[in-house]
Amino acid sequence: MHVLQELEPKKVFEFFEEISQIPHGSGNTAQIAAYCMDFAKQRGLRAVHDAGGNVIIYASGTEGYENSEPVIIQGHMDMVCEKTPDCRKNMETEGIDLATDGKYVWAEGTTLGGDDGIALAYIFALLDSDDIPHPPIEALITRDEETGMYGAMDFDPSVVSGTKILNIDSEEEGILTVSCAGGITAHCVFELPTQLYSPTYEYEISVTGLLGGHSGADIGKGRLNAFEMLSKPLEYIVDCYFGTISGGGKMNVIPQNASIIIGSDEDKLDELEQIINLCNDRNYGGETDSGLQFSVKKINTEGEVKYIENKCYLQYIKDFLKFFPTGVQSMSESIDGMVETSLNMGVLEHNGTILSCDFLIRSNTENGKASVIEVVRKFTESIGNKIDFVKMTLSGDYPSWECRQDSSLRELMVEVFEEQYGRKPEVSGIHAGLECGVFAKKIQNADIVSIGPDIADIHTPNERLDVASAGRVWEYVKEILRRSK
Ligand SMILES: [Zn+2]
Repeated sequence: MHVLQELEPKKVFEFFEEISQIPHGSGNTAQIAAYCMDFAKQRGLRAVHDAGGNVIIYASGTEGYENSEPVIIQGHMDMVCEKTPDCRKNMETEGIDLATDGKYVWAEGTTLGGDDGIALAYIFALLDSDDIPHPPIEALITRDEETGMYGAMDFDPSVVSGTKILNIDSEEEGILTVSCAGGITAHCVFELPTQLYSPTYEYEISVTGLLGGHSGADIGKGRLNAFEMLSKPLEYIVDCYFGTISGGGKMNVIPQNASIIIGSDEDKLDELEQIINLCNDRNYGGETDSGLQFSVKKINTEGEVKYIENKCYLQYIKDFLKFFPTGVQSMSESIDGMVETSLNMGVLEHNGTILSCDFLIRSNTENGKASVIEVVRKFTESIGNKIDFVKMTLSGDYPSWECRQDSSLRELMVEVFEEQYGRKPEVSGIHAGLECGVFAKKIQNADIVSIGPDIADIHTPNERLDVASAGRVWEYVKEILRRSK
């Protein structure tokens, strides 16, 4: 029984349904890759399953397009597997249960995998057809985008000859994405050479109720960093020892909560409560983060927490929390309203004599990334030059996709969009990573645009694909190819 058989465009939803019956979560893509290879074989198309686990299917140009420049159509074969708490499905071994009301397509109890199954459905519908005019096609279907763009990272660009890349992995119809952020992690460690100490009284000071959010997509919304807020009460605290700091926990999430354990030889509860009240009265959260709450409570850790004895090091911790760089560093000049460069300190650990933290740096330009690495380095040194041991290491570098000044693909796509929709598309960038960044770096002179139909609530069991939107984007893709002579 085919659930989507009444939906248009028929071929697109037929392939979408076939794909949905193959389990294809990230890390579990052998079967879907085999399906892609088999699809090509059955139609006499050349295909490669490369060392990175990607599948590339080649199709010649149709009549009159034999010598046209090839177009790369790209999507990823893996999906995010999430399900509702009561869903019993084993997404490792079973297909998903599709449903539709004619307006949307979703899966019962699980993610739909519209991200990025729709790209594969378009590719298969195109390559299966004999009545869609198109230039030579290099369909590039990547492995494990969702968990780290592993397929794209391992992709050998010599297997393709095209430079025009149509990436179908965006979720909002009417937006042409032409830039994405690259990123890098800076891991900083400070060693405080001091004795450990056991105070008589112990308290926990907490910051809670911040909105947090994604360190790329939400960084431009003025959201506060919980570690920075932790510095507010500490400014007024004297004659105490600082112990464990905890909170946040993910580099790519703006920390919502943070706490520090402090110790003292005298009972300080009244004094600390006054400081906390003062901080709450100051309304640091403003309208954006109105949920911000400072609190203090007496605790007893029975010696589990390590405190620093040397009081001059306490000032370094205060300075660190007060002055560490975080948030938006610059806005884009070429794309209106887009954050170009940012950093997020999402992880901070202070335990005994070691203070360590991770900054996730993002930028839509390589220069922006390099300049923020310097900001973090300078900051680390300014704190570190009073301390014997400090170290900053960089890892997880991935490239940005810079907005091209001249893009013939973008021009064509804007033109076709205006004709088909009767309005201008939004030409935009995102301050987060996309595989396009990797291809922009690997494929010389790559001219890339990312699009896709409306898909709501991706990566959640509420994910749903808008049927009419999928139809309009299909017409759009076909027209772009027809005009790529
Ligand atoms: Zn995706």
